[in-house]
Amino acid sequence: MPLEVTLIDYARDPLQKLYGAYRTCYTPKTPGEVWGEIRDGSISADRIRDFIGERLKTGHASPLEQVVFWFGISGVSRALSHQFVRHRIGISFEQQSQRYVKYKEERLDYVMPKTWQKVAGMADEYDRLMREITRVYEDALAKGIPAEDARFVLPNATPTNFQVMVNFTELLHIADLRLCWRAQWEIRHMVALMRREVMKAVPEIGGYLQPKCGDKRMGYCDEPVKEWEACPLGKVRPHKEQLLQVFREYRAGNLVPLAEEHIRAVEDAGNEE
Ligand SMILES: Cc1cc2nc3c(=O)[nH]c(=O)nc-3n(C[C@H](O)[C@H](O)[C@H](O)COP(=O)(O)OP(=O)(O)OC[C@H]3O[C@@H](n4cnc5c(N)ncnc54)[C@H](O)[C@@H]3O)c2cc1C
Repeated sequence: MPLEVTLIDYARDPLQKLYGAYRTCYTPKTPGEVWGEIRDGSISADRIRDFIGERLKTGHASPLEQVVFWFGISGVSRALSHQFVRHRIGISFEQQSQRYVKYKEERLDYVMPKTWQKVAGMADEYDRLMREITRVYEDALAKGIPAEDARFVLPNATPTNFQVMVNFTELLHIADLRLCWRAQWEIRHMVALMRREVMKAVPEIGGYLQPKCGDKRMGYCDEPVKEWEACPLGKVRPHKEQLLQVFREYRAGNLVPLAEEHIRAVEDAGNEE
């Protein structure tokens, strides 16, 4: 079963909700008056978009908690789900039970990392082991061992499904960490699909879902330099050490101050005698 992410729903009119939340902070008007203007159309969609865009450039992020998404996620491994459920603020999970659901396939639809497929013979080994695990699991069930105990033989590769509700603040944080090159490939792929779903539904805010080095997030990489050098994004995003280097040079007085002749060179460019 391929990894699938479906955006089930999102709280109605997320941009209006955001506008209402932000506007309430910065106006003497009551929320009732603000929402009256939103509902009677006197605040245009462009105005809403621009106002939100300006607020998002500041550090005022709490209104993003009022924007909520629901996702359906299937075909991910238990290795992924162990990582996913570590996120504990602003997110709710419902996950397929291994006590109440008994797997009935002849060979469980295990997730197989591509690295196993790339080494000669190892995909077959993997498959053989998974078939054997499935056989023992089914035998245990058939002989009366309850599902909650039979599942003890199931590996990290066992597939699982989720329904998840998450607010946008937490989704941004999850993207910071899990869209990063350093995140594990499967959870990175899942969060990438979540980002694509949000981009389709609400592109005005979907674009803020970036890894932490993105221009709309922290803006630089704080992972080890070697990892930054290996990351494809290292070519376009700076590393923390580079920024600190500039700062140290500045403090040491090594940065050349702009002199009159430097400024003139720019001012007079194209208009030289
Ligand atoms: C690349 C990578 C490698 C990892 N490796 C390991 C590993 O080897 N072992 C391991 O155990 N985990 C590992 N993790 C998981 C990691 O430690 C976190 O548990 C996980 O990323 C969840 O993130 P979070 O703590 O920010 O939780 P979230 O629920 O996403 O929290 C959001 C934010 O809320 C705040 N917050 C949440 N709870 C509290 C609290 N109790 N007190 C104060 N502030 C709080 C924090 O600012 C937190 O960042 C790894 C994660 C990544 C991305």
